[in-house]
Amino acid sequence: MKEHARQARAENRIVGLVPTMGALHAGHLSLIEQARRECSPVIASIFVNPKQFGPNEDFAKYPRAFESDREKLQRAGVDSLFAPEPADIYPHGFSTYVNVDGLSDRLEGRSRPGHFRGVTTVVMKLLQIVQPNFAYFGRKDAQQSRLITQMARDLNLDTEIVVCPPVREPDGLALSSRNIYLNADERKAATVLYRALDAAKSELAAGVRDALQLQAVLHRTLGVERHARVDYAEIVDGESFESVVRVAKPTYILLAVFIGKTRLIDNLYMEPKSPDSEELVFHF
Ligand code: AMP
Repeated sequence: MKEHARQARAENRIVGLVPTMGALHAGHLSLIEQARRECSPVIASIFVNPKQFGPNEDFAKYPRAFESDREKLQRAGVDSLFAPEPADIYPHGFSTYVNVDGLSDRLEGRSRPGHFRGVTTVVMKLLQIVQPNFAYFGRKDAQQSRLITQMARDLNLDTEIVVCPPVREPDGLALSSRNIYLNADERKAATVLYRALDAAKSELAAGVRDALQLQAVLHRTLGVERHARVDYAEIVDGESFESVVRVAKPTYILLAVFIGKTRLIDNLYMEPKSPDSEELVFHF
């Protein structure tokens, strides 16, 4: 892979990388489309990274669909697929990790200790191997893309991190490889994440800026759904991911909710229309 990517760079081509864990859906394909608009070649990777799963998480049963993924990538016009084995990425004796302090410990990091250290380590390795001009990530995983952007800045990487909007089902559910774990009842219940974000958005559009009031709306909506158990529902600053008391600057509403045994995350991003405007622009 290094040789292959080096060759493309030597030809002064614009190399794009789209890292994934496979079980590809339209969300992944939207990243590839974006990459294709800006880069040639586009390289996709599939690697279910053992180091970002906790001991009681779903690494062993994480959906794997290599052949159909390969076909999807081919049809999407990807130039190369990098699909290493765990032993290629973490050979015997591997002992160097990348960690983004602070940001890694909150929210997802608190619920999933060690998760982000695994993510930033593998992404750093993929970026080192391919050394792409651009690498594409989904804002569906808001904290993850924020961390990777921070890592790229802190470590002076030559790769520009591009963050792309989430792709959703018609009923609002954000696409996720884990949605296939949901049974029919849970699939219906899973729209509660989007419904809660939308309810909060209505309050915000009506002028509510108080975080506690917004959290109450989130919990009220989520609480009605009997399959849902809230892990967190937070209103955070768009840069630091620390809780805010009032929405005034770029802000995320972040949700992590168990639907049955399946843990789903979603978010709503908002920013003032202009620097001193009270009006917000929303990004689902
Ligand atoms: P994963 O295979 O889940 O590790 O995801 C690979 C990349 O696809 C990450 O950058 C995700 O943020 C992104 N992604 C996952 N779901 C979506 C979605 N529904 N819309 C857009 N991007 C997504």
